[in-house]
Amino acid sequence: MPTYKAPARDARFILNEILRLERYRDLPGFANATPDIVEAVIEEGGKFAAEVLAPLNASGDAQGCTRHADGSVTTPEGFRQAYALFREAGWGALSLPEEFGGQGLPHVLGFVMEEFLSAANQSFAMYPGLANGAVASIHAKASPELKAKYLPRMISGEWLGTMNLTEPHCGTDLGLIRTRAVPQADGSHAITGTKIFISAGEHDLTDNIIHLVLAKTPDAPDSSKGISLFIVPKVLVNDDGSPGDRNAVSCGAIEHKMGIHANATCVLNYDGAKGWLVGEETKGLAAMFIMMNAARLGVGIQGLGQAEAAYQNAVLYARERRQGRALTGPADPQEKADPLIVQPDVRRMLMDAKAFTEGMRALALWGGLQVDLSHKAASEEERQMADDLIGLLTPVIKGYGTDKGFETAVNMQQIWGGHGYIAESGMEQFVRDGRIPMIYEGANGVQAMDLVGRKLPANMGRAVQAFFALVDGECAAAKDNAQLADLAQRVEKANGELKAATMWFMQNAMANPNNAGAGAYHYMHIMGIVALGMMWLRMGKVADEALKAGGEDKAFYETKLITARYFGERFTPDAGALRRKIEAGSEAMMALPAESFATA
Ligand SMILES: Cc1cc2nc3c(=O)[nH]c(=O)nc-3n(C[C@H](O)[C@H](O)[C@H](O)COP(=O)(O)OP(=O)(O)OC[C@H]3O[C@@H](n4cnc5c(N)ncnc54)[C@H](O)[C@@H]3O)c2cc1C
Repeated sequence: MPTYKAPARDARFILNEILRLERYRDLPGFANATPDIVEAVIEEGGKFAAEVLAPLNASGDAQGCTRHADGSVTTPEGFRQAYALFREAGWGALSLPEEFGGQGLPHVLGFVMEEFLSAANQSFAMYPGLANGAVASIHAKASPELKAKYLPRMISGEWLGTMNLTEPHCGTDLGLIRTRAVPQADGSHAITGTKIFISAGEHDLTDNIIHLVLAKTPDAPDSSKGISLFIVPKVLVNDDGSPGDRNAVSCGAIEHKMGIHANATCVLNYDGAKGWLVGEETKGLAAMFIMMNAARLGVGIQGLGQAEAAYQNAVLYARERRQGRALTGPADPQEKADPLIVQPDVRRMLMDAKAFTEGMRALALWGGLQVDLSHKAASEEERQMADDLIGLLTPVIKGYGTDKGFETAVNMQQIWGGHGYIAESGMEQFVRDGRIPMIYEGANGVQAMDLVGRKLPANMGRAVQAFFALVDGECAAAKDNAQLADLAQRVEKANGELKAATMWFMQNAMANPNNAGAGAYHYMHIMGIVALGMMWLRMGKVADEALKAGGEDKAFYETKLITARYFGERFTPDAGALRRKIEAGSEAMMALPAESFATA
């Protein structure tokens, strides 16, 4: 069975030495993030993930969720107890608003915990993860009455929440939504329709589930401009807070699916269920986007989590499993064969995984900090900058993070050879669980279009210009450092490819939008490479300074410098090839009529 240990040393390195959280202690919320609290989240949070959740990952996968004849759903054995412990420790409320009972800690700390939870047990992590997104939307858009009624009990974990967008005929294109919301005399709406693929839509972890549902009111335009957002509780809540009648929402089925078996993916039928409008009528997509943006970053972290867990188990195997000899002669002559880890091709996969996971962790946590700074930085200018950067990089963290996370899980399975394909090893679960993050929360191709079609041109390119400048600054600062000059030059070159690709879109996408669509995916990957390159430059710089200062933990910092070098040598060259793909345009891609794709 696979094992998992939270990467505490690396999280500590990023929070304390790269992001240097203590710099922000004068900002609201950061004062609570004392070194002791940061340490407690890393240590105790890591322990909870490793000791409580990881042992339930394989058993939860094997057992799955069960739907009963009355529509109720039970989660796998151990999940209820684990959730009770999770609640008791307050892990769900780390960065939720203090005014409603949350701990109000910076999001960056919440992101640390999200990685640990997802890596240990993605199915489990999704239950509170979705609820946190629902809390964000309600907090931002709902009336004071709705907030007072729902937020304290959602934040305490007494109730969980869901997001209901998808319907059988519409996933990406939400304008097609058919669920109706008819106003009632008491101020509520009657919600009728069918939602599918609703994660955590029904379960036994909490007595009530607060669904956030997209629906159209009778006179609204039948397009994305006519969508409103509603709170629809599974159990109605009386004015005194006591449980009322069961609402008219039921789970019609749960899906049998490739992975995340322990998270119930539900068909939810709304039969005139009572719902309450969140925010303004027809402004539902904007309200839901608050939830979706948070969720997209969380999904990027899921990609990282699966990659990290798979990597840890591949390292153990590569060090123990003996096959063949090192190319340069026996490494362990006293044994009949050498361990796999002496093979350069096995090293290729391990180093790819190491360079990706550590770089991605730094990027995700830096992203968490930008979320905090976008609300809490001292000046308007800093808040704007952070908001621009996290807006630009959200599709990259989601799309690049989950594409590479899945690729990493597959490579780690490869290291286990045939044993990795056998269920008993647990390696194939990482691949199965790691596949869905590329699809939900906006498929990765849709993320790429969000980046190129919306985020690049916004405010005349202000965000991407700020990103270019940030990367250039990091490269310039590292050029005179012998340890980092090569990496700096390579990242600068990759940034140059990104600039050239941006310019190419400016010149070629207006005349033919297919040129943007044809290259967007590659563009998202170049930006992922450059963003990780920037993180590796920062990590390399800190590692170099630590080694020069001659302190403890020499091996940790030396390893960082070597991995930084590897990243430069093996990741950045792809930027050039990806740019050339973009510049090939869309002509050949779009030339064939649809019927020419038929093979028979
Ligand atoms: C396990 C699981 C859990 C889920 N959880 C939830 C949930 O909690 N709540 C919820 O509301 N939904 C949920 N979903 C639904 C998920 O978000 C959708 O499946 C996803 O958004 C894609 O929609 P679709 O499946 O209808 O695919 P379609 O929209 O039909 O798209 C199919 C494919 O076409 C491509 N594509 C489509 N449109 C475009 C475009 N404009 N540009 C470029 N490419 C495009 C993409 O590659 C996409 O993968 C879940 C799905 C699964 C499988």
